[in-house]
Amino acid sequence: MEKIKGGCLCGKVSFEVKNSFDKLYLCSCKQCRQITGSAFASNLFVTVDGFDWLNG
Ligand SMILES: [Zn+2]
Repeated sequence: MEKIKGGCLCGKVSFEVKNSFDKLYLCSCKQCRQITGSAFASNLFVTVDGFDWLNG
């Protein structure tokens, strides 16, 4: 089983995703541009069963 870990830059929040991603969606709506500070956000969609919070 493939596992991918991620989190914020300060390290207080981290998560782990098991299995593969369902979808990848590049969005350029106003909210995604403000959150990322760039022209678009890369959003990955996973199932609830495959997602675990590790910290935070
Ligand atoms: Zn968006």
